[in-house]
Amino acid sequence: MPADRRQALGLFGAALATLAGRTGATSIALPPLELGPARLTQGGWARGMAQGGLALDLDGRAIPCDASGAFFLAFDRDAAPVARLTGRAANGWVATRDLAIAPRAWQIEHVDAPLRPPSVPSEQFLAIRKAELARIAAARARTTDARGWSQSMIRPVPGRVSGRFGAQRIYRGEPGSYHTGLDLAAGSGTTILAPADGVVILAADAPFTLEGKLLMVDHGMGLSSAFLHCSAHRVSEGQAVHQGQAIAEVGMTGRATGPHLHWGLRWREARLDPLLFLPGEQ
Ligand SMILES: [Zn+2]
Repeated sequence: MPADRRQALGLFGAALATLAGRTGATSIALPPLELGPARLTQGGWARGMAQGGLALDLDGRAIPCDASGAFFLAFDRDAAPVARLTGRAANGWVATRDLAIAPRAWQIEHVDAPLRPPSVPSEQFLAIRKAELARIAAARARTTDARGWSQSMIRPVPGRVSGRFGAQRIYRGEPGSYHTGLDLAAGSGTTILAPADGVVILAADAPFTLEGKLLMVDHGMGLSSAFLHCSAHRVSEGQAVHQGQAIAEVGMTGRATGPHLHWGLRWREARLDPLLFLPGEQ
């Protein structure tokens, strides 16, 4: 493949274009498939542009594009080292990109104590929890046309990072569950701002057992935020919110030892590192 053609295929990863069953294919132009900006790392993300009506998939799962061809991808905390992005053009061309997903050095603490066996939950707790998890699942199943996925995010509250995403304790070789969000220390009542545009998909009126007064905002394209332990909500379900809008207040409802915001970000099932969405912070 000539160098200028390789360059035209973009900056990231190994690029390859094939046309099954035909020859002399290099004269056919491949619609552009570009990535950027991107944080190609575990817990990270990428935005891109696919023109010419390319149909995209990431490791076999379809990736939607908006009317301009813009798309969003993200990579789980434990994502494999390579993710394959494929674009299929109407003329039969297939372009694949192997995206190298950089591993992270997660904050791991080895504890010389056995992993505490979970206390046996009561029937009553299990019934309540089942209903809470069903509400969370129903909220996640909602899709909206919010455009927050295309924005550069802002911090929901000021304050120091008191708990990093991905941090994990290992108890005599047995891993505990990792921290699924970013903890930001802030006093009770501190205003929480929407980090990006979205639609409120869950606003728990009564505190959930673990998450407390939980607020969830869909940012579109499968990306959503969860704000845990709030003392109050300032928006209601179904409401569209704009980046920077006051949506809730910091608290310590649910399972929390002090007032803070636990901000979780997910794309589909993948859990993401919120710090990677804040320009200039990591
Ligand atoms: Zn937390």
